[in-house]
Amino acid sequence: MLTEKPARPATADTNGVEPGAEAGEVGAEATAATPDATGVLPQERRLDCWFQGRFVPLTEAKVGVMTHGFLYGTACFEGIRAYWNAEQGQLYGLKLLEHYQRLARSARVLFMELPGTPEEMVTLTVELLRRNDLREDTYVRPSVYKSTEAIGVRLHRLEHEFVVFCVPFGDYIDTSGGISAQTVSWRRNSDVAIPARAKIVGAYANSAFAKTEAQLNGHDEAIVLTQDGHASEGSAENLFMVRDGVLITPPVTDDILEGITRTALMELARRELGVETVERQIDRSELYIADEVFLCGTGAQISPVTRVDHRPVGSGEVGPIGGGLRELYFDAVRGRLPAYAHWLTPVYETARDDSRART
Ligand code: PMP
Repeated sequence: MLTEKPARPATADTNGVEPGAEAGEVGAEATAATPDATGVLPQERRLDCWFQGRFVPLTEAKVGVMTHGFLYGTACFEGIRAYWNAEQGQLYGLKLLEHYQRLARSARVLFMELPGTPEEMVTLTVELLRRNDLREDTYVRPSVYKSTEAIGVRLHRLEHEFVVFCVPFGDYIDTSGGISAQTVSWRRNSDVAIPARAKIVGAYANSAFAKTEAQLNGHDEAIVLTQDGHASEGSAENLFMVRDGVLITPPVTDDILEGITRTALMELARRELGVETVERQIDRSELYIADEVFLCGTGAQISPVTRVDHRPVGSGEVGPIGGGLRELYFDAVRGRLPAYAHWLTPVYETARDDSRART
């Protein structure tokens, strides 16, 4: 017979285990007792979110346990970063419009829609960041979810809601050195099962299986294969490899999320390094003979892979293309490369507004 536990305090207990990042990052031997250090709700400050059509304290934005999106994973989301530039006193939302356009597409696949145009959602997000006076690297998490509280698995005849919150956020996986990756035994959910191009909450159980298998086997990340055995992507990152100076990434028809960082890196490679990207299928064994492999995503940023399945990649060191793109990317997202200002939405209007917000 189960005995009733004492009621939890309103905020304290739940906050520590909220992972924030899309793949539910938990280290190899980590358990609920050792939650992530980043992406958690800060105890000491009040943050607002947009929930059920208005701004409310994040600690008060709750859904019922019978909410369809919670019962069945019938929801979609985005993981967005905003980067703080201390010299400029500016917070830059990265590719906000592209994220809301993708969220609109994911919602459409699930018979839902955003409450406004992607442009309006960008304006709302900037207002949210400003309202919370965030002056550090931040993660923004909008979701559209089936909000009806009912049993019955389906996509139709259900209400839906939109929510967006933001929390301070640091590195999600290591970007300084190289990481070790394993091609795991789990396969990527195929387009005929759960479309990977839509960022569907339920599909992240697949990412979680992959990441946990890799980490419990002592690796940092997973590389997931398609049903027919081609390299698809990481647990929550897109995949690139370099062979003989050619940059190669799987095509959008190989069960990948059509990544926003992926597109950004292709632009950087073409414009800054003069390297075109070839989109084609990648065999698993090509990863063993590639000169470079790296993963990329909003959360992961750019993460060079220096070991795959216990084999060193190329020289076993971070390579020139992955390493070069990483430097360029970090400069671009922090507003240090004027040529990429079009990727960024400044949150604070001017330095003067900035100081006013502080007082
Ligand atoms: N694949 C998956 C499964 C992801 O969750 C992510 C992270 N959103 C990515 C790729 C990378 O996409 P993006 O660059 O748009 O963040």
